Amino acid sequence: MQLPDILKKIDASTDDMISNMMSMIRIPAIGPLNGGKGEGHRADKVLEFLKGYDSVERIDVKDMHDPAVMRPNILAKKNGRGKGTVWIISHLDTVLPGDLEEWKTPPYEPVVKDGRIYGLGTEDNGQAIISSIYASKFFGSGTLTKRSIGLAIVADEETTSAMGIEYLINAGLFEPDDVFVVPDWGVPGGTMLEVAEKHLVWLKFAVEGKQTHGSTPHRGLNAYRVSAKMLVDVLDRLEARYGGSDPIFRPTVSTFEPTKSIATVGNINTIPGYHEFCLDIRLLPMYDPDDLVAYAKEMGTEWEKRTGAKITVTVEQRTRSGRPSDTECPEFRALFESISSVIGKEPETVGVGGGTCANFFRLAGYNAYVWQCGGGSLHQPNEYCDLENLKTDAKVFATLFHKLCV
Ligand SMILES: [Zn+2]
Repeated sequence: MQLPDILKKIDASTDDMISNMMSMIRIPAIGPLNGGKGEGHRADKVLEFLKGYDSVERIDVKDMHDPAVMRPNILAKKNGRGKGTVWIISHLDTVLPGDLEEWKTPPYEPVVKDGRIYGLGTEDNGQAIISSIYASKFFGSGTLTKRSIGLAIVADEETTSAMGIEYLINAGLFEPDDVFVVPDWGVPGGTMLEVAEKHLVWLKFAVEGKQTHGSTPHRGLNAYRVSAKMLVDVLDRLEARYGGSDPIFRPTVSTFEPTKSIATVGNINTIPGYHEFCLDIRLLPMYDPDDLVAYAKEMGTEWEKRTGAKITVTVEQRTRSGRPSDTECPEFRALFESISSVIGKEPETVGVGGGTCANFFRLAGYNAYVWQCGGGSLHQPNEYCDLENLKTDAKVFATLFHKLCV
């Protein structure tokens, strides 16, 4: 079948896409760490949609926190005669619905209204599951002369990925010639294509001084005063030491933001003996997060000597990002051109501060690209998937399959 016919078939599939999406959203898929029972039943439903593939494999992984729960991963393929597979990666699990009072319609009872499907997990990441299925559906088995088409519909993205994409990568299920597209982040209109992510470091600075009465500061050690002065110094020095910029990133520099802090004392006339604050740091990949952690601890020791307070610097989270994905290779060009031809303009190639599944591929040495048409409602009450976005995504992926597989 020619590409224009495939794109027409996608346009004509709106009702099927809606009904698949709705039947899937009705089944909760929350990981045990978030208090759910996993994605098993939702995976059963998705398997019903996967007809006409050369192979459909379900890989159940025992949950690390609740051994009674199995975390399902689905790999569906249409085999090409050449080396490698073009994979679209999507995830089954959702976050918790949050405050039910905020939902105008119940999270597990999807409704179609004004060109959108409302429900928990419609945008994140139901859109990618359905768009990738319909992008691949109309390619006849046996017509692929180049790469294979692959869908990886995985578990555990919203918590650890250890029983999802990380498990599959470590199990050696992917090959050097494979191409990975992760539709789990995007902007309205699909005008940005993400090729890189920053390192993430969360630090906590705890300051122990000595509590005393407001009128006798000389008898204590004001932990809040030490903390405030140290915070300013730490920010200035981090921004100076890691001050480089990379124009591909939004924003172009590393960011160092004070976020969480604790309440000090309940009354104004007590000098606090303890204070702590946290930093959310998004570090450009040109720097080493281990170097930053060592430097932060050094500054803690220095401030300890300077003030006499006990200062502890702890790493609450550290996620290393892989090297940015190649933007010169033919596979990147194919994706870039597929997006341009469907949305009618060239996307911007960007790096971001957030994290996706794509980073696991980059860390393993693969190129992975993050793209979809974003609606901006994910992780919020009244989450929705725009039907136009769903179809545009499916057409972009179909165009990509046509370029690299047929
Ligand atoms: Zn997601």
